[in-house]
Amino acid sequence: MNASSYSAGSSVPLSPPITMSSVFQVSDLDAFERIARYEERGYFYARDNHPNGELLEQQLAALHHTGWCLVTSSGMAAISVALLGCLGATRRIVASDQLYGRTNQLLSKHLGKFGITTEYMDITHPAKWEAALKTPVDAVIVETISNPMVRIADIPRLASATHAAGGKLIVDNTFSTPIGYRPTAVGADIVVESLTKLISGHADVTLGAVLADDLNLKTTMAEVRSVWGFAGNPFESWLCTRSLPTLALRYQQSEQNAQQLAEWLQQQPGIAKVHYPGLPTHADYQLCQQTLGGHAGYMLCCELTTGRAGVDHFIRAGNVPFCPSLGDCTTTISYPWATSHRYESAESKHQQGITEGLLRISVGIEPLSHIQDLFSRALSTCSVAKES
Ligand SMILES: *Cc1c(COP(=O)(O)O)cnc(C)c1O
Repeated sequence: MNASSYSAGSSVPLSPPITMSSVFQVSDLDAFERIARYEERGYFYARDNHPNGELLEQQLAALHHTGWCLVTSSGMAAISVALLGCLGATRRIVASDQLYGRTNQLLSKHLGKFGITTEYMDITHPAKWEAALKTPVDAVIVETISNPMVRIADIPRLASATHAAGGKLIVDNTFSTPIGYRPTAVGADIVVESLTKLISGHADVTLGAVLADDLNLKTTMAEVRSVWGFAGNPFESWLCTRSLPTLALRYQQSEQNAQQLAEWLQQQPGIAKVHYPGLPTHADYQLCQQTLGGHAGYMLCCELTTGRAGVDHFIRAGNVPFCPSLGDCTTTISYPWATSHRYESAESKHQQGITEGLLRISVGIEPLSHIQDLFSRALSTCSVAKES
């Protein structure tokens, strides 16, 4: 950061300044060459690089212990940069069958237009996905903990199989954040984060990040970000920088609340099933203990006994805000059937386990008793709905 230009005498601002300039004046042609070749630190055009983006990149790379980071305009832009940057020899991608809805759409509908094929693998059966990785690939994409069914991918095992197939393993780590898990530490090549979610955490930023070690990938992906126009902006980068000192505290509190809320919800009338990898009843409980060190995250789902009508009553009760996002300080709910997985067929939703009675919960940092109180009140309206 060019904080010194804001200094007065021997004082400099503790909070980094926001540099809104979209373009920079460079002293001469030789200096421009050095900056363009990354031989000298500097900026010329904000679509390529700017001080607030660069500072955030350094901070995020430190959290993930990666060699580099590129900040993008959204989590989807980060996924696009990661995929486009890996495509080459085979034009074949293998993807988890448990992915965020827009990622599925990108793969099956939009990249397909360019002749890129995506094969989906059953992430919950290693024997099945190992078969899909017998054929060479450019990239494999999975989510550490999947949206919304919170299924867990075995990253170390996937990394070996992906490398044997000649590809790069891309891991969307949004439900874990670097506090819960660091996929590159166990063999993943590229990590993607939607900074919009818990990392920014205050429902006021839309940004993403791609992180890795390989410097050749950085050159390619920085070019992809520039030519497709996927860069993030200075003000939101600054807001995200402001969120980072509290990230670990917010993550820990949300995760602890999520575990206790999941256990409590299991006992509540009107709840048919709770999905949370920190519960021994979850199919990936063991995997969560082994590979994620028990970090089951801040997201869970529950099924209401009253189905879609029950969900509607729960939402209308208004106790817990219904918003199609996650990772805020406040506990919020969403409805995957019609929001995050809206554009998928009913068959594909059922296959992933998404039902019409499924409520997704993003657990915030409020006192647990406060969250329980909100859920009790909203759930009581669902049972009234059933009786009437
Ligand atoms: C929200 C989300 C994304 C997309 O991030 P945006 O910042 O909304 O573009 C990608 N992956 C997962 C798992 C998400 O939850």
